[in-house]
Amino acid sequence: MPSYKGHLKGGLVVFLLLGVLNLKFSFIEWSIYLLSAPIFFIYTLLPDIDTPASKIRKWVSVVLLAPILYFIYYDMKWEAVSIITTLTLLYFVKHRGLFHNPLVGFILSLPLGLVEPAFLVVAFIGFSTHLILDALGGN
Ligand SMILES: [Zn+2]
Repeated sequence: MPSYKGHLKGGLVVFLLLGVLNLKFSFIEWSIYLLSAPIFFIYTLLPDIDTPASKIRKWVSVVLLAPILYFIYYDMKWEAVSIITTLTLLYFVKHRGLFHNPLVGFILSLPLGLVEPAFLVVAFIGFSTHLILDALGGN
């Protein structure tokens, strides 16, 4: 199982390959390509959110702390409860189960398509890169 660094390195290779393909075929504007970089790398790590010790789980938990505190402060209890419940449910998800499924990757990528269709594709490629690297093993 590659570490998060292994996934980032493998993801970098794939992301640069996408850039080379974009040079040749001009799929998307370069500004969109560059804007999609953080999305790509987050989705490259996202499947391991099912692992409590993973970097992505820790980062997501910290990032979601701000909206939780905001919702509590402004008495938006249900919004806070929904985020806390989602984070709690992650503890019951089996590693390499639900979140290591391409269909789940596609579903999690869909909201980005509302912002920019290319983001959906890039997110799904990032998610798929993780699954392929896990299948190949190594570090
Ligand atoms: Zn994994």
